[in-house]
Amino acid sequence: MKYLLSLFFVFSITVSVLAQNEQPKLVVGIVVDQMRYDYLTRFYNKYGENGFKRMMREGFNCKNNHFNYIPTKTGPGHASIYTGTTPKYHGIIANDWFDKNLGKTVNCVQDDAVLAIGTNSNTAKDGKMSPHRMVASTFADENRLFTQMRGKTIGISIKHRSAILSAGHSANAAFWLDYDHNGNGNWITSSYYMNELPRWVQDFNASDVTESYFKVWHTLYDINSYTESGSDLNTFERIFKGKESATFPYDLNTLKTKNGNYKIIAESPFGNSLTTDFAIKAIDAEALGIDAHTDVLTISYSSTDKIGHDFGVNAKETEDTYLRLDLELARLFKALDEKVGKGEYTIFLTSDHGAPNVPNYLLSKKIPAGLFDASKMFDEMNAFLEKKYKVSGLILSRINNQIFFDYNKIEQNQLNLEDLKEIVALQLLKYRLIDKVYITSEINQFEGPSGYLESLLNNGHNQKRSGDILFVYNPGVFKDTEWNRTGTDHYSGFSYDTHVPLLFFGKGIKHGQTLSKTEITDIAPTMSALLGISFPNATIGQPLEFVLK
Ligand code: ZN
Ligand code: ZN
Ligand code: ZN
Repeated sequence: MKYLLSLFFVFSITVSVLAQNEQPKLVVGIVVDQMRYDYLTRFYNKYGENGFKRMMREGFNCKNNHFNYIPTKTGPGHASIYTGTTPKYHGIIANDWFDKNLGKTVNCVQDDAVLAIGTNSNTAKDGKMSPHRMVASTFADENRLFTQMRGKTIGISIKHRSAILSAGHSANAAFWLDYDHNGNGNWITSSYYMNELPRWVQDFNASDVTESYFKVWHTLYDINSYTESGSDLNTFERIFKGKESATFPYDLNTLKTKNGNYKIIAESPFGNSLTTDFAIKAIDAEALGIDAHTDVLTISYSSTDKIGHDFGVNAKETEDTYLRLDLELARLFKALDEKVGKGEYTIFLTSDHGAPNVPNYLLSKKIPAGLFDASKMFDEMNAFLEKKYKVSGLILSRINNQIFFDYNKIEQNQLNLEDLKEIVALQLLKYRLIDKVYITSEINQFEGPSGYLESLLNNGHNQKRSGDILFVYNPGVFKDTEWNRTGTDHYSGFSYDTHVPLLFFGKGIKHGQTLSKTEITDIAPTMSALLGISFPNATIGQPLEFVLK
């Protein structure tokens, strides 16, 4: 009896130590591109039981989760979620920015040192991509180091930047869709990761899965039951070429030739279905979540963003997209239950930024909003400086609400950069829709009074990469381009752009909810704490200990 008791004692100690050290077999990071927090609540009654609601029912809901920097864009968003830090430290200051050394605009993941793998020659540049401009590590990188490279990382998204920046530097693979510039509709990668597509990706590309989505987009349920959104026919939505109006149904087969072929799949909810198909295939083919070493799968759903840009926050098209995405999540969770096992994996779901209502729609409801013509301002500023100093083109770029001066011309003409900053800042303040202007210090550090918006600008300002002047529009305002006159856009530090969902569920996660403020940079240290690994190297966030068991 004594022997039996002590055996039991030893056994129970072993079990409890194991339980403490037992990691999820798989971490799945899900980013829904351009998902506002209120899409969880506005469409709640129409969601099924096994998608968003399952995450809320079984997991933890951080209801007051925000981005803590400007600009709220896709590249910085994905980088910040996975590195736990902001553009100030990870270096991804926008999707595209003016590179002061190269004297031209660069894309956040463009890399001429690598080759496209799986594209045709037309779209080769869409494959020449890597995370080389991101200077910080992601939690998946730390997991790779911790597991001696035994835990895998795979990144998947229709958008290259979303697949690449999420997966980090040491990923086994990132895959994205060759849809832009009349691409071939294949899932592709770059020589940064491999020299040939894996067999399973080649097989997926050769199958008719992608083609099968050239079909009619009807609303999932009776359109008259979509009482949470505006009327289908209105003046705030973009009309696909070949359509008379932005109204259901959308026959992708007849619209595809005039709308960039595979691009129209990316701009429909079927792009999210295709992403789920490919992700489930990857779980199988890459044997994710099978062995004892934690793997990381990052999935970013991009079509939600494209639909938002086309139709806006209040559109029937947007509501239908989220109701359909909810079913895609349910399908993904079911596959994970079957392949990895219920309770064996951990998921978080968030977004890379939100979006405001369409400015013209807000104006129609008497809420202040507007579109700002930044190209016109750029020409006017250069003309103003030319008149004053007899030097043309003193401003090189006004990208991302920043002003970049031509340092060579300033030196050649013996002008003073600090004087120019002040003169231009004063001119910028005269524009009705520009609310705030800040100039940087002589060593290009952000200099603003302390304040909420200023702290966001500071977190987004990179000493080496950011511009000489930063300006902020009024709330409800974004830049006026032909593309932006319908649908929405995002960039700002206002709550419509910063407030996004944050849901956790699965192994090691408590059930609950909070209205306490959490920040996007808290996600990576939380996942690191769950795994017991080092935080990503430049983390500024804090682990959300109330979500962890
Ligand atoms: Zn985005
Ligand atoms: Zn419509
Ligand atoms: Zn977007």
